[in-house]
Amino acid sequence: MSVAVESPRSQSAPGLAALARRVTTAADRDPIEVENPATGELLATVPSCTEEDVAEAVERARAAQARWRETSFAERQEVLLRFHDLVLERQERLLDVIQLEAGKARRHAFEEIIDVAVVSRYYARTAQRHLRTRRRWGAFPLLTWAWENHHPVGVVGVITPWNYPLTLSISDALPAIAAGNGTVIKADSQTPFSALAAMELLDEAGLPRDVVQVVSGSGSELGPPLIDRIDYLMFTGSTAVGRRVASQAAERLIPSSMELGGKNAMLVLRDANVARAVEGAERAMFSNAGQLCISVERLLVHEAIADEFIGRLVDRVRNMKIGAGLNYDYDMGSLVSEKQLETVREHIDDATTKGAKILTGGNARPDVGPYFHEPTLLGDVRDGMTLFADETFGPVVAVSTFSSEDEAVARANASDFGLNFSVWTRDVKRGRHLASRLEAGTVNVNEGYIAAWGSVDAPMGGMKDSGIGRRHGATGIQKYTESQTVAVQRLLPIAPHGLVGPKLFTKAITLGLRLLRAIPGWR
Ligand code: NAP
Repeated sequence: MSVAVESPRSQSAPGLAALARRVTTAADRDPIEVENPATGELLATVPSCTEEDVAEAVERARAAQARWRETSFAERQEVLLRFHDLVLERQERLLDVIQLEAGKARRHAFEEIIDVAVVSRYYARTAQRHLRTRRRWGAFPLLTWAWENHHPVGVVGVITPWNYPLTLSISDALPAIAAGNGTVIKADSQTPFSALAAMELLDEAGLPRDVVQVVSGSGSELGPPLIDRIDYLMFTGSTAVGRRVASQAAERLIPSSMELGGKNAMLVLRDANVARAVEGAERAMFSNAGQLCISVERLLVHEAIADEFIGRLVDRVRNMKIGAGLNYDYDMGSLVSEKQLETVREHIDDATTKGAKILTGGNARPDVGPYFHEPTLLGDVRDGMTLFADETFGPVVAVSTFSSEDEAVARANASDFGLNFSVWTRDVKRGRHLASRLEAGTVNVNEGYIAAWGSVDAPMGGMKDSGIGRRHGATGIQKYTESQTVAVQRLLPIAPHGLVGPKLFTKAITLGLRLLRAIPGWR
């Protein structure tokens, strides 16, 4: 394979030790070593938090929230917009931090900058609209007046994975903050610095001290005490851990959102623009080396264009440049860890042993860095191979053909997951119609993932084993609130009273209900 490579030079970013001091601790703690996956070198350390630190973090966030909830939407908007500006201004440093701890290519790290900027602007400008007190239709016209209030839940716990360490820690915290909550982020132990760098910028943007706390350490140790103390759980990670933490949250009767795994399909219809679809497929399959919950792991191409499409895609992928320099020279970076590389190897070995064919790639690249792996396309993937149904979460894609759209839809939907699908066609109306038949929380037409992900005015999340709840849009902020209905009864009660005995009351109400039913538009 002629993948162009370059070994990353020894890399470092100044200021990581200062960031580590932002982790909430009640006393001195043992260090956790954070590795630079691109080189295998030690990057820096963060404290290994304990249950006591989690308690301290929640307590501080709760005390700060009592004041923060009293601020106006205008004040919160100012903080979020200033944060937006700082993220764009300081992007080079943020990009360095993300790349150094996650090992990804800079172009993929930049997607995190876009996301955080878009989400902070969106909730700065819409929080008030989504949460303001609204007049609602009362039980009976004139007699009952009703309003819907939204109160912050209190302290939101955000548990995040390592793959998009800035986006997944901060972008889910921003609407929680905009709604007047305190937030405790349990950053992934492999990638704690991006969340800490964002916290530094939130401070500078004027967010009052302690509203956001970050704890670092093992999820299985810190997760339970955190879930025991918070008022809402926002979890992003694997389906297996999601099930566990969702049941802990349910046990406490606190609400939660679960953003979990996927086995995403891309459908290329016979009338697709092949050049655009090939370019889009490469991005959708190999952004962050495929370690993206919404990246494509199953590519289904109409048989009429399969030879041309697959031929062009294989050429393109074969020429991708892998490496992790702190610049925009590379198309794909490293995997995050030895564990991730092992999963990729196991999935490829299992598939090829059982008859899958390597179309391009297929090899680990220790010559570039300890966890680098070539972008890989596999043909002849069948049921019974691990990667047929299981998420690889790496740069490995099963390529197959279909002969009818019904077949494509049925095969795409034949998965336990339902996170993000993609449809390519010149006929946008047909694409939208087909999208509505797909069992996935988001579907992109003529894009792989970024169109739906970036459309933050609309909800995003998973169907089936891909999750419960949604981020983005109105639901992405209202979920961090308790809704409250206040209804005022005027003039007469909705019950027998005075001269109105039960019989007369029943008759009057029955007549009233019939009248309301007859008024078009009365709810
Ligand atoms: P993971 O193992 O589930 O870990 C995610 C987070 O949960 C980490 O911070 C982890 O901590 C913590 N954790 C682990 N065990 C826990 C427990 N018992 N209680 C509470 N927290 C616990 O996920 P991963 O393998 O790192 O991430 C990859 C998965 O995330 C993939 O399946 C991917 O599809 C999914 N993902 C989904 C989305 C989405 O939006 N739908 C986005 C990104 C990723 P430590 O690791 O630090 O111990």
